[in-house]
Amino acid sequence: MYVRMKKRNWLVWVCLIVVLAAFWGWRERKFIERYPPENPAWNGEALGTFYSVKLVGSRLTNEGLERLKTAIDAEFEAVERSMSVFREDSDISIFNRAPVNASVPVDKEFAGLLKRALEISDMTGGAFDPTVGPLVELWGFGRDGRHAHTPTDERIQAVRGKTGWQKLSVSKDGVLTKNLDGLMLDLGAIAKGYVVDRLAVAIRGAGIGNFMVEVGGEVYASGRNSTGLAWKIGVDSPLLNAAPGKRLVGIVSLSDRAVATSGNYRNFFKGENGTLYSHIIDPRTGFPVQMRQTGVSVIASDCATADALATALFVLGEKDGLALIDKIDGVEALFVISGYGVCFREATSSGFYETVNYEHLDSKGQTL
Ligand code: AMP
Ligand code: MG
Repeated sequence: MYVRMKKRNWLVWVCLIVVLAAFWGWRERKFIERYPPENPAWNGEALGTFYSVKLVGSRLTNEGLERLKTAIDAEFEAVERSMSVFREDSDISIFNRAPVNASVPVDKEFAGLLKRALEISDMTGGAFDPTVGPLVELWGFGRDGRHAHTPTDERIQAVRGKTGWQKLSVSKDGVLTKNLDGLMLDLGAIAKGYVVDRLAVAIRGAGIGNFMVEVGGEVYASGRNSTGLAWKIGVDSPLLNAAPGKRLVGIVSLSDRAVATSGNYRNFFKGENGTLYSHIIDPRTGFPVQMRQTGVSVIASDCATADALATALFVLGEKDGLALIDKIDGVEALFVISGYGVCFREATSSGFYETVNYEHLDSKGQTL
């Protein structure tokens, strides 16, 4: 009798354990179904380039993550709808077609970005000029693509006469007016950084403090990466046509800051005499900047500023560019200029090494 009782107890325990294990497995499965990984990451294409997002320590449910992805797509769509010169119906295209002195209303975000762009034009003495578009087209870097011949001096000066950031006004209530016939807007030198900032706001709005977002090489890094350290962002060597990340000159560690890079090693053409013409135009001359292979990275608290200043620094060159950065609080810059073979020279703003955690790599990508 006693033995049978013991056997029954034993059976009850086994059954209980089996039921508990099944329940635990079911709960785990439900949890995994409901919660994606803690550090989700994804990438895609938008605004004619690639983007990537990395989140760390996210507590989002699957639905929450899907909502964030949808919000990010909506940000891209909104920027494209108002600022893409490749869309006939965008606000920017409507403004570009508008006659002189016509009032063109735009949304608050567009007006805000344009005001910031004009501040940077002022700050850089016009090296950054969002009205440079017709020159970009003339030199074959625009929608029409490459031309067979380099333009004549006469033509360059005629087109340059259609540009000038001072000929553009934005009213307080977001109405744009051109004071020069034929004036056009091209926000290509600031839009990627700007969209990065918008995505960062959307991600923060979802309650995430540790993330990295990158659009076409322009980056904002917030908080810490998955190892609990500042985010590490590679600085590319200015090697002609090298894929991003293929060969690095260094690594910057960033937390709550943005980095943007401009250069002449990806989008350029070689003139008859072998000169390298970059897609960045010097608005003061109407000619593409002609420099040795160079990359310039700017670090700032927001990515739109970093993006616009990187383009401006490329126009200004090492000496004037770094002197300008030294006058702006909270912004640092690094020029990487080609020497001979795979050797590159670096030049920085005076506070760069003090305020930016920068790890220099040798030509094999090893830390020096
Ligand atoms: P980024 O790659 O950010 O340096 O931007 C380069 C793009 O900005 C070019 O492809 C042009 O569309 C436009 N751009 C070229 N030169 C200038 C300039 N000096 N100021 C503002 N935008 C420019
Ligand atoms: Mg730029």
